[in-house]
Amino acid sequence: MTVSTGDILTMKKKHPCGANTMLVLRTGQDFRLRCTGCGHEFMVSGLKIEKHIKKITHQEGE
Ligand SMILES: [Zn+2]
Repeated sequence: MTVSTGDILTMKKKHPCGANTMLVLRTGQDFRLRCTGCGHEFMVSGLKIEKHIKKITHQEGE
């Protein structure tokens, strides 16, 4: 599973705000994600997040 900066992750579990998609701001050992619903940003371990990803949407271009 390859996640790149700028990708949109569709999560299995919804964020408390109701959105289930997250924008990837940073990848690596720790991921920085921004909820597309409420704009909340948070860090999460890469290993942990992989289990919760339902779908990865790659953004075209930059
Ligand atoms: Zn949210």
